[in-house]
Amino acid sequence: MQEQFYLDSYQTRLETRVLRHDAQGLVLENTLCYPLGGGQPGDRARLQLADGSHLDVIDTRRDKVSRDILHLLPPDTRMLAPGTAVTLELDWERRYRHMRVHGALHLLSAVVPHGVTGGNIGDGSGRLDFSLPEGIELDRGQIEGELNRLVAEDRVFAISMTSGERLRTQPDLIKTMSVTPPLDLPEIRLVAIDGVDLQPCGGTHVRATGEIGALTVSKIENKGARNKRVVIALLEPETMRPD
Ligand SMILES: [Zn+2]
Repeated sequence: MQEQFYLDSYQTRLETRVLRHDAQGLVLENTLCYPLGGGQPGDRARLQLADGSHLDVIDTRRDKVSRDILHLLPPDTRMLAPGTAVTLELDWERRYRHMRVHGALHLLSAVVPHGVTGGNIGDGSGRLDFSLPEGIELDRGQIEGELNRLVAEDRVFAISMTSGERLRTQPDLIKTMSVTPPLDLPEIRLVAIDGVDLQPCGGTHVRATGEIGALTVSKIENKGARNKRVVIALLEPETMRPD
């Protein structure tokens, strides 16, 4: 199965075919739907069939064993035969908000220079949890100012592929990453924000930080003596569809 969203996170429509459909879910030859993972929710979409009818994809997951991408349909949906032609139309407005919040969290991980212990992407807002040395306080206004400065600078997201083997020969590169990738993988996707952040990431990304738009730090919560949760939100959650 191909995973077109890795190649082009802006594609919203795809003609493909059914590989199999069973109680687990629907598997397609190729897909635009990002499966739940890395703190980002699974995509929703609409499937157009040749007879003019349509079915809703209500969630997308990755099968832990086969690694196939499973499109989840409402429980009473009829089963589609292998080979059935379908046109997949992504719920783009929701996905684009996820992409913008995801980009904002990359920036947040750079603006707050402490270890990230968790995170989550929601529809228009998101959070990261940081492990901090005791006694360190975070300044909400300063974080918000830095985030919005990086958005205004419209810095480019650059995606490249490498391997664990190649990275092992570049220890300096690993040192500059905010997260160390698992080096046993044959293929590792690196996401760089020009001059700001470099980390391995399999998510869906905007092209540049300007697309994220204005951000607010909604709250900073204490989660134990050494853990702080920083929640951010898009000030303009409605889609600004780029060309
Ligand atoms: Zn990412």
